[in-house]
Amino acid sequence: MEPIKIEKCPYCGNTSIGIGYQLGQGSLSASKMGLTGCKVVHMICRGCGSILYSRVEKPQIFKEEK
Ligand SMILES: [Zn+2]
Repeated sequence: MEPIKIEKCPYCGNTSIGIGYQLGQGSLSASKMGLTGCKVVHMICRGCGSILYSRVEKPQIFKEEK
């Protein structure tokens, strides 16, 4: 997968983008039991604080919705 590049905040125009990792209880689970989960990575505008983009580290663990 190509890394997604965000060079500029669409909301305030700031080019300073930070990366945040949501850990622990904030991990996104692939099952209701919470046994399988993975970290959520956010790209954050350091100017206005908007979360510009979020992704999970291991998208393969999630079931395809039928
Ligand atoms: Zn911004």
